[in-house]
Amino acid sequence: MRFAPQPKGHFARPSIMNNNPFQNALAQLSRAIAVKPISKELLVRLRSPEREVKVSVPVKMDDGLMRIFEGYRVQYSNARGPYKGGIRYHPNTDFDEVRALAFWMTMKCAVAGISMGGAKGGITVDPKQLSSGELERLSRGWVRMLYPILGPHADIPAPDVNTTPEIMAWMSDEYEKLTGDKSRATFTGKPLKDGGSEGRAAATGMGGFYVFDALREAVGLQASAKVAIQGMGNVGGNAAKVFKDHGHVVIAMSDSKGGIVNEGGLEPDAVEEHKKKHGSLRGFPGAREITNEELLELPCDVLIPAALENQITRENASAIKAKMILELANGPPTPEAEDIHIGRNIPVVPDILANSGGVTVSSFEWEQNLKGEHWSEEDVFHKLKDLLDRETKNVWQCAKVLKTDLRRAAFAVALERIGQIR
Ligand code: NAD
Repeated sequence: MRFAPQPKGHFARPSIMNNNPFQNALAQLSRAIAVKPISKELLVRLRSPEREVKVSVPVKMDDGLMRIFEGYRVQYSNARGPYKGGIRYHPNTDFDEVRALAFWMTMKCAVAGISMGGAKGGITVDPKQLSSGELERLSRGWVRMLYPILGPHADIPAPDVNTTPEIMAWMSDEYEKLTGDKSRATFTGKPLKDGGSEGRAAATGMGGFYVFDALREAVGLQASAKVAIQGMGNVGGNAAKVFKDHGHVVIAMSDSKGGIVNEGGLEPDAVEEHKKKHGSLRGFPGAREITNEELLELPCDVLIPAALENQITRENASAIKAKMILELANGPPTPEAEDIHIGRNIPVVPDILANSGGVTVSSFEWEQNLKGEHWSEEDVFHKLKDLLDRETKNVWQCAKVLKTDLRRAAFAVALERIGQIR
């Protein structure tokens, strides 16, 4: 078998070398326990993952050559239940990113009150460079390498950046072939026909809206807010539609190549259609082109980062003009940026609360698979809204009691719950 040369810089993290996401995540933990102390034992346990595995996944490429891809699974904590967390495909994905995301999953499940722990997975790859067949072989290969540590009561992966319901279906099928387990409860975010849940695709955006809506009046925003959204994948694209459907005005949207703005409001379905047809947002009628950096600094009521981590740093935080930040991406600000927001009195709804709708509906999917049930979309969103209303108000109340910001408060709620488990 002949091997293809690895692309240059394949395993580097050039853009965010100084913003290690795992160090940022641990800094958030330290900041939170300064306002709500935890036992030394819990702190020691939470400062490192319980298990991390790196695998080399061989994939036969379409040209007949074999290429090796680096894959990861970090099982951070199962104190509250089986490990749970998505799988990211991205050229910059590495252990530290996956570790950070797994840590945030641990906190997120606890804030949402879901009886699950935290994990995350990934592959260092630019999936846009692969054919559909190569992508399928890579996805099945990741499962072949890792299936002994996965399972419906052990570790349940889901989609994240660049991983789709179709990829979850391949992975679920591969898991079933390898183990004979027909429950389909080991992967969530599957297509409906493969055991997926109604509402899962829109869940993170919808959940973000429920969290926003529960806080809107408290933070002094009007019934029709101007919203700017960075990233228009599963999360940002669905958030745009949900906010528009509920009477808000989406003034800006973007993808990795850049964005567009129209202060009068964009029609999210039309923007998505344009991107499908032309491959980017360039030339969208009636809108002005902007960069992703400019999008973050637009005057608006709500800024929604829905792309990647480390988008808001000490360099650009002071230029943000939004009245509120709703973090649908994981880890958008660095801790320095966080201090700038606090100093400027800008409420930031942290990722571990704001985007917890995704894992919540994933836990509903898992439950349906195990019980052999299929819930209606109305039921799913009703349960999601109830849960997020309750937990958002809980975090808000905790922030009042501790006289602190929403991130420290969300951590305090999560840590209290994790600490109760022996
Ligand atoms: P996705 O792959 O569906 O979409 C990502 C989007 O971000 C795309 O539009 C892409 O073009 C854009 N993007 C990539 N790099 C960018 C950049 N530098 N600037 C601006 N835009 C850029 O991914 P997703 O599932 O929507 O995930 C987005 C974020 O939400 C991630 O931080 C992810 O961890 C988080 N998240 C996802 C889920 C979920 O259910 N999928 C749940 C919770 C949190």
